[in-house]
Amino acid sequence: MHTLVIPTPFPVGPVNCYLAEGDELTLIDTGPKDAAALAALREELRARGFALSDVRRVIVSHAHVDHMGLAAQIVAESGARVLAHARNRWWLTDFHNEWGRRYDFYRTVARQSGAPPEYADRVVQGMQIFSRYADPIPAENFVALEDDAAVTLGDAAWRVVFAPGHAGGLICLHDPSSRTLMASDHLLRDITSNPVLEPPARDEAARPRALVDYIASMEKTLQLAPQVVLPGHGEPIYDVRALIAARLAFHRARLDHIEAQLRCCASTAYELCNVLFPKLKSFDVFLGLSEVIGHLDLLERAGRIRCEMRDEVIRYVPV
Ligand SMILES: [Zn+2]
Repeated sequence: MHTLVIPTPFPVGPVNCYLAEGDELTLIDTGPKDAAALAALREELRARGFALSDVRRVIVSHAHVDHMGLAAQIVAESGARVLAHARNRWWLTDFHNEWGRRYDFYRTVARQSGAPPEYADRVVQGMQIFSRYADPIPAENFVALEDDAAVTLGDAAWRVVFAPGHAGGLICLHDPSSRTLMASDHLLRDITSNPVLEPPARDEAARPRALVDYIASMEKTLQLAPQVVLPGHGEPIYDVRALIAARLAFHRARLDHIEAQLRCCASTAYELCNVLFPKLKSFDVFLGLSEVIGHLDLLERAGRIRCEMRDEVIRYVPV
């Protein structure tokens, strides 16, 4: 398994893609649709004796542009199949329409969070920029992967581990024999993974409860007891159990903090966002709101708060 470090124009820095040799040359994640990323991907492949046209399969861990943006280019040059969890079907095959569905959703979320209208404008402007960094793949190249599906990479039998949270359709890949987990953005060593707010899937009515799903996915990956995690950004993780424990503790502390803020100083998601992340600017405010709403979902699930809709704004009240 080769690690290909591909630059991105995003604050997160470069993305780790992985290359598996074998009967079918397989690339796991692609980098964004961006000239520097494409040049780097070509060079990384060339250094190992391959060209883009040799790729037979692309496995997409989740439908964020830094992980799948170049899929269409790779398919155009190689005819590769693109494997991803079924929840990414429309993101991959109908990218621009699927992305566009976010705009109305985020306007509604911003309004219900009590944010001023210019906030929603900034978020949507930020969203529109991301749409440059990917193109859709042809529908016939898409192959849906289900949880626990077997995937041969090199000569090892890996399994798909559906781990929604950071994204609704995120998968990890697990090799039980080497206890290696390719975790994408599910687990990162140096930063916490944002539970990114997503609109309901096309055939579903409710939006995913991203942080509720994320905590469940972390517990699921903990059960696998991986020895090493290969993440989507940054260095491999060896002390996996300690990292997951630290992440869970971090979220527990944040739940307590948010609940305390609701008792004294805030009642809407936007007010909480300003208390927790007063320095966030532009698009990052959206990530802050995702984080806050994720925790509010968890508190509500746990029966610690309830929400009331007043004048189209959701207010949260400790129970
Ligand atoms: Zn991501």
